[in-house]
Amino acid sequence: MGREKEIRKDLEDEIKRLEDEARTKESEADEKLDQIFSKKKMEFCPRCGRKISSRLEWGGRCLHDGCNEIVCIECWGSEEKKFCGKHAKDYVRKEEAAEDDIKNVTLNYMEFVGERLKKFALDWSPDGFIRKTKTKVMNKRYRQFEMLVYEKHRLSKKPRIRVLVRPASATAEDEVNALLENPMEGVYDVVVFAGNAASLSQKILRFAEGFSNKRLSLFAFNTENGGTHFNPREKITAKYACWFDPAKAPLRFSELLKAASESEAGSRVISMKDFADELGISKDEAARILRESKLLDEVKGAETFIMKE
Ligand SMILES: [Zn+2]
Ligand SMILES: [Zn+2]
Repeated sequence: MGREKEIRKDLEDEIKRLEDEARTKESEADEKLDQIFSKKKMEFCPRCGRKISSRLEWGGRCLHDGCNEIVCIECWGSEEKKFCGKHAKDYVRKEEAAEDDIKNVTLNYMEFVGERLKKFALDWSPDGFIRKTKTKVMNKRYRQFEMLVYEKHRLSKKPRIRVLVRPASATAEDEVNALLENPMEGVYDVVVFAGNAASLSQKILRFAEGFSNKRLSLFAFNTENGGTHFNPREKITAKYACWFDPAKAPLRFSELLKAASESEAGSRVISMKDFADELGISKDEAARILRESKLLDEVKGAETFIMKE
């Protein structure tokens, strides 16, 4: 029994020794931190001048590579303040330059869309052929660009398509949802988010590529590499894509008809079904659009139309 007691005593001593050691190390570390904080150049936050006198008031070191300035816990709370005074200026300048880039690419794209729709006269919407097209830029301000494509009648004009161009931003999804909640009667919407590789986040690209709605086509356009992102399973959107992609030739209504037609005995014949498949619409809807376009002669009873020469 004496031997067992001895061992226990040894163990207790060892535990006590380790505990003492830990306490010593802890107080040494505290002392070191105290030393750091008491050094004159580290005492005050370079951003707000607040005194940093303990570990609790320390936010972190300036994020600029190789800079050792300590920023206080209050300032550390904001993104731009995770830098000392000197490097914060660099950071803000970079942020502003990035903002300017996004603005420039968006303005260029707005100009492209305005000119293209006017020059080539977009002449169809999912509701059908627009015999006489008139385009008008309603708002040319950055973040507010709005263009309308009208169907012109003798005494009036009816809006058929609304085109909005926006800079790619974190709120893209909310902007589209807000638009869907306030549709314009009888008007098809096209929304393009323009940006560069830096501003077109994966989130926006995924949103555009998975977007599905019968009243709205959504595009994300990378003005840096010309990449157009949209949901290819949405047939109307896929057909519209060429209008909003500078590298592609715009597709007018007559070309849509041609794409769906077949050559038969010297004329071009379109079946209701082929046209419906081409646009992803019902056969009844296809029949209505083909009939109302007045560009075709209907072959009664055959569900086909022949293009007028
Ligand atoms: Zn501070
Ligand atoms: Zn710094």
